[in-house]
Amino acid sequence: MLISDRTSDVISSSEISEATTEKLVVRELSIRPFGYFEEDLEIDFQQTHRPDLEIQILACCMGNREGIKIDSSFFWNLEIGKRTEYLLTVATLPNRSQIEFNLNCYNSECQRQMEITILLLELILLQQQAENHPTEIALETKKFSLRKPTGIDQKSWLEQQFPDEDSATLAMVQTLLPVEQISSFQQIFSQEKHWMQTLNQVMEEIDPLVNFSLQVNCPYCGTENLHDFDLGDWALQQLYRAQQQLLITVHRLASHYHWRESDIFAIPPWRRSRYLDLIQREVNYQ
Ligand SMILES: [Zn+2]
Repeated sequence: MLISDRTSDVISSSEISEATTEKLVVRELSIRPFGYFEEDLEIDFQQTHRPDLEIQILACCMGNREGIKIDSSFFWNLEIGKRTEYLLTVATLPNRSQIEFNLNCYNSECQRQMEITILLLELILLQQQAENHPTEIALETKKFSLRKPTGIDQKSWLEQQFPDEDSATLAMVQTLLPVEQISSFQQIFSQEKHWMQTLNQVMEEIDPLVNFSLQVNCPYCGTENLHDFDLGDWALQQLYRAQQQLLITVHRLASHYHWRESDIFAIPPWRRSRYLDLIQREVNYQ
């Protein structure tokens, strides 16, 4: 299955079949699901820096239109929101492009659990809107334009030490300003510290997929809930689960047939799935 330039169409099979491991082509890039190939076991989910982890996963699952791997510098140069979009695409590929999770109502007398489903397509549209609207900060009568942060910015911020959150925000904003606007920004900002609130708000809104929040009305008590939700973390949890599932597959096939890991990965995923079914059938008959 090859789908060209249509972000809304993703592979819809929820079962392990030939289709699930085939690639999706989006904007000249191909994306395959995670958790089927030997290299997917190489990813260390325990590493401390999330940008490194996210980029390793994307470098593993994405290629050019022909499926040839892309240099990791491409992913470091992506805006963080775009990277989150790709990560969500990889994480939702095996099923139906939906992000499903549970939330508890904030009303202390209710606290009932709500099942939330967000379509990946809605998030892709949100990201596209953000890409088409440049971020601006208005201080006094002057407007400053900000570019969106990339993985390279994130890496450099992570390597720096900031005395407090305000200093971190200020440094981030200055990195994202065009060079020619920096001195006039510093001049206006140094006069009135209350601009800090504006900067914090702009940094919150600059990447809707990174600082994602969701307004949900509880169906049981009617309370309005505004939940912050970490979409990237949700994707990483799904991908970690897919890796654990792959380990279980290797373990079961190795234990049963005494195959080596390399033998197991030489078999296409759909056939591994059939062997697992046969093993399960034997267990059921015992
Ligand atoms: Zn409620």
